[in-house]
Amino acid sequence: MTPITLITGASRGIGAATARLCAVQGHRVAINYTRDAGAADEVARQVQALGAEAMTIQADVSQEADVLRMFEAVDARWGRLTGLVNNAGIVDVKARVDEMSFERLQRMFAINVHGSFLCAREAVRRMSTQHGGVGGAIVNVSSVAARAGGSNQYVDYAASKGAIDTFTIGLSKEVAAEGIRVNAVRPGITDTEIHASGGQPERAWALASQIPMQRPGHPDEIAQAVVWLLSGAASYTTGALLDVGGGR
Ligand code: NAP
Repeated sequence: MTPITLITGASRGIGAATARLCAVQGHRVAINYTRDAGAADEVARQVQALGAEAMTIQADVSQEADVLRMFEAVDARWGRLTGLVNNAGIVDVKARVDEMSFERLQRMFAINVHGSFLCAREAVRRMSTQHGGVGGAIVNVSSVAARAGGSNQYVDYAASKGAIDTFTIGLSKEVAAEGIRVNAVRPGITDTEIHASGGQPERAWALASQIPMQRPGHPDEIAQAVVWLLSGAASYTTGALLDVGGGR
């Protein structure tokens, strides 16, 4: 059976690297994005060049109607999905907690936490043997920040990833007997555009000396862990929080 995998936030960075590696492993790959259709189309072309089928879907994971439409698009094209990577996530500009607006907190938790819950809910409805599915695997992209705390930088982001860790553990137990494995990868500082979106484009390399391995991770190195957790090679792994952070 050909795996059918939806990756949120796959137009660049870790999501795009995961899409390409899924293609190498023979998955059909659904590439979600919010704004940059051109970048998502380019990732789809790369997936196809690797011999796999691809589709792109514009959807904001924090909007329930968008999430429902996204899963229906995958259903219509390929049928029930077997893999979900909850990768879409945001940071915000550097701030202390006593400087954070309510709007900032709402956006952070809506995308990073509610979005992952909504997508996982829709995936379970399709994968669970209780719902007539054949099982599957969900990988949540958390962060080393969940245990570091993000002090003086973005405690809101770190706390949103803490929620993802707890969500991973809880959901994994809920659906373990229904053919679904749920795990998280916790990347350390990885060289992607997320740092520029938080106003610190040089952040990944600027912090290299604080990383035991003295360098940021490459998105492909995070994707390796995600794709392993999706695969049958991880058949007895569920509820795991896998740090991929160069020792950080
Ligand atoms: P990135 O380069 O900023 O890419 C983010 C992706 O998410 C883009 O494809 C973006 O699409 C999409 N996205 C943003 N908001 C979305 C929304 N509301 N709905 C759907 N898609 C949305 O980020 P990245 O560094 O690859 O990060 C990927 C994941 O890894 C995130 O969850 C992040 O928290 C986590 N992580 C990253 C690092 C790091 O150092 N890079 C470390 C730890 C954890 P558009 O461009 O089309 O908007």
